[in-house]
Amino acid sequence: MNPRTLNRQSMTHWVLICARLMRENQAYLTQLDSAIGDADHGANMTRGFNAAEAKLLELTNDSTPGEVLVLTGQTLVTSIGGASGPLWGAVFRRTGKSLGNALEVDLTQLEGALDKGLVAVMELGAAEPGDKTMVDALSPAVDALKAALGGGVSLEGALEKAQLAALEGAQNTTPMLARKGRASYLGERSVGHQDPGAASTALIITALHLSLRDPFQGDQALRGEG
Ligand code: ADP
Ligand code: MG
Repeated sequence: MNPRTLNRQSMTHWVLICARLMRENQAYLTQLDSAIGDADHGANMTRGFNAAEAKLLELTNDSTPGEVLVLTGQTLVTSIGGASGPLWGAVFRRTGKSLGNALEVDLTQLEGALDKGLVAVMELGAAEPGDKTMVDALSPAVDALKAALGGGVSLEGALEKAQLAALEGAQNTTPMLARKGRASYLGERSVGHQDPGAASTALIITALHLSLRDPFQGDQALRGEG
């Protein structure tokens, strides 16, 4: 299967895979947030995406990919406590809004919309790349999509590059000094720990890549059998 576009089902699938990856990695995200935060990031993200998963069941079959993402963003804002609720809410709502009424979303539209989502979170949180936040994983992922657009790469190939860029971006936060959010209160002591929000962002971009596969294959891949 090598689709050229994402539709309502793939966007829904993205959010459902996010929910599963948050549940599976809840302890890991909590561990990262215990080192430089208040140990709630795993619980926050799991609660948020579980709520989004439940909410998406209320959508009808004629809803658009954009509506799936806007509803997800609204649900994340109201269900995630902590800084990441409004921030992730902004990413999903702005990305969804930017897709307009499109029923099929190609790589150009996806890149443009995610770029708007990135701008939204940077405006809201006033974080720049290098501040040791979720922006340090999201921004390289959007850059990878942009680069793929110019290189004639398939949607699947582009999302794989975005996933790798987000994972690398998250790892690159380890030596950074936190300048935004709770971790910034620690000053120098924030150095040497991966940012929890960047780690969960890498999971969200991983889920976007996996959303291209059919649910059964996606499940296998997540369990390391695919
Ligand atoms: P809280 O910090 O309120 O406990 P979470 O633990 O859920 O909320 O989320 C923490 C994550 O949020 C951080 O690891 C960081 O990636 C992200 N974050 C915090 N503040 C900002 C900001 N101003 N801009 C971008 N991301 C931020
Ligand atoms: Mg926290």
